[in-house]
Amino acid sequence: MTDCIFCSIIAGEIPSTRVYEDDTCVAFLDINPVVPGHTLVVPKVHSPSFIETESEAVSGLGPVLQRVASACVKGIGAQGCTISTNNGAAAGQTVLHVHWHIIPRRTGDGLKLWPQKTYAQGEQEKVAASIRAAF
Ligand code: AMP
Ligand code: ZN
Repeated sequence: MTDCIFCSIIAGEIPSTRVYEDDTCVAFLDINPVVPGHTLVVPKVHSPSFIETESEAVSGLGPVLQRVASACVKGIGAQGCTISTNNGAAAGQTVLHVHWHIIPRRTGDGLKLWPQKTYAQGEQEKVAASIRAAF
């Protein structure tokens, strides 16, 4: 797709530091890492976000994410990793080509990616009911 920075990276038109590639996806270092080794796993077929991607196009991705995440953790000597994908601008997605972040983690690294709240009385069941109704 024209005007998509990740399509340009996949096509080799702009540089990236690749760590993995197969027929369906590439993985390269994020140019502005949360920590060194922060890696992006990017399907080769353009789609704006995970939710909007044809399920067949991502059905084989689980094992790839697992392998890349494992290599990131082992390769840089981390102790774990956070795997996440932002869906839509409201969620902080800045590049509208589906991708997953693999962020190597170390005990006590101080990253607080999930500031958490509590539910009010009865709210949890109402929220769950709206989600169930949307399938
Ligand atoms: P998101 O905000 O979830 O859409 O993530 C997009 C990520 O792409 C950000 O973390 C950027 O730092 C990263 N990024 C943008 N341009 C490049 C690039 N040319 N090479 C590598 N990573 C990039
Ligand atoms: Zn694209």
